Amino acid sequence: MTLAIETSCDDTCVAVLEKHKNNSTTLHYNSKITSDNREYRGVYPIKAHHSHQERLGGLVNEALQSLPIQHSEIAHIGNTLLIKGENGTNMLKKPDFISVTRGPGMRANLITGLDTAKGLAIAWQVPFLGVNHMQAHALTPRLVSALNAFSENPHNALPAFPFLSLLVSGGNTMLVNSTSLCEHEVLAQTIDLAVGDMLDKSARDILPEELLVSAPDVSYARLLEQYAFPDISNVDDYGYLPPVKGTPRRLPNTSSTRSRSILARDWAISAPLSKGDPKRSREELATIFAFSGVGSQVKRIVEETPPPGMDDVERRILARETMRVAFEHLASRVISALQSLRAQGSNTLVVSGGVASNQYLKHILRSTLDVNGFGSVELLFPPPNLCTDNAAMIAWTGIEMWEAGYRSDLGVRALAKWAIDPKIKGGILGVNGWIKETEGCEFV
Ligand code: AMP
Repeated sequence: MTLAIETSCDDTCVAVLEKHKNNSTTLHYNSKITSDNREYRGVYPIKAHHSHQERLGGLVNEALQSLPIQHSEIAHIGNTLLIKGENGTNMLKKPDFISVTRGPGMRANLITGLDTAKGLAIAWQVPFLGVNHMQAHALTPRLVSALNAFSENPHNALPAFPFLSLLVSGGNTMLVNSTSLCEHEVLAQTIDLAVGDMLDKSARDILPEELLVSAPDVSYARLLEQYAFPDISNVDDYGYLPPVKGTPRRLPNTSSTRSRSILARDWAISAPLSKGDPKRSREELATIFAFSGVGSQVKRIVEETPPPGMDDVERRILARETMRVAFEHLASRVISALQSLRAQGSNTLVVSGGVASNQYLKHILRSTLDVNGFGSVELLFPPPNLCTDNAAMIAWTGIEMWEAGYRSDLGVRALAKWAIDPKIKGGILGVNGWIKETEGCEFV
């Protein structure tokens, strides 16, 4: 059982996860508080750091109340924590180790979590383990399978390696080929903005001001989807036609003449890197995402609209087009990767990160895979609460690393940058501070 902490960005998260002897897994506690950054209209690192300092202690305290009760006949005094609960003092099972996000992320924010984790480990005299946040995103579907079906399939977390992951969040856009616990090859990544960041910024340009001021948080891209497809339960195929190689772009099916005229004449967003790049080969282009150009085109389209500005119909079309262009760009790199990995036989694509909750993205990915001959590739979308930043994924990665024999030295420092691909520089195991507890203990 591990208690896990995640503070890499603006979410203060704590979880308690236990893997039982029969391999079934229980999430005893999983909570998050997101700092309120609305006045800045985006994540403001100092505000988020303050929020971690104010909230983390309280969340850890709350998490302790959810630790399982240790029955006195099997309790060893060193394995229990005496905690005062509503019905007097409870003897609770102590976590076997502490897991915490060590990086990548905002350095000061990481330090709040890391130092708290070290404090708990020292006070309770248990080991601690510094986890790579991106590795944790990649392993999330295995946590989901452990929570859902482990007892029926006790030896294997799913998907089994190898599998592909598309990590699409506010801070990252990455296509990763995971071949084992610590081997994650980055097949494509963004050279500028993350897709979530670009959509948040574009949403600020597209959405009417009254919607922006009433937003519950700064995840404006979520609002953008709701605005673009207000009646999502009735959306069937989005009128979407996936691009077919070698044929000109076809306009989406839309019943409204006004919509068709806007789409046909008034403006268009061109796809990232569609004109190529004289400095990069075709192969190299397939390994990069670029989103800032989409964001600046959207800004220009809105700014160049003559007064009184866009009405709701046109704003909605612009919202849909922004998402379409961004998601087709993601899909195009997925197809290139699947084509070059045909021999590996990857049959699963995991899509995680906050943007993965977008239904239009799911639709575009599925239809693009189908028309390109990858109908048999399964798409996995972990539930949104587990694929946005959370501590349950840190706990799970802690457990997988723990079982493989890894612990961290108490002297490790936070890492603002920490690649997961050994080819990029370092990789998960390429940083200092790892202790290998059990030589020869291999993860299966
Ligand atoms: P994460 O960085 O994984 O915590 O995810 C947060 C990012 O996901 C932010 O950029 C959000 O605006 C974005 N996001 C959340 N929901 C959606 C959605 N339905 N569509 C697109 N982006 C979303």
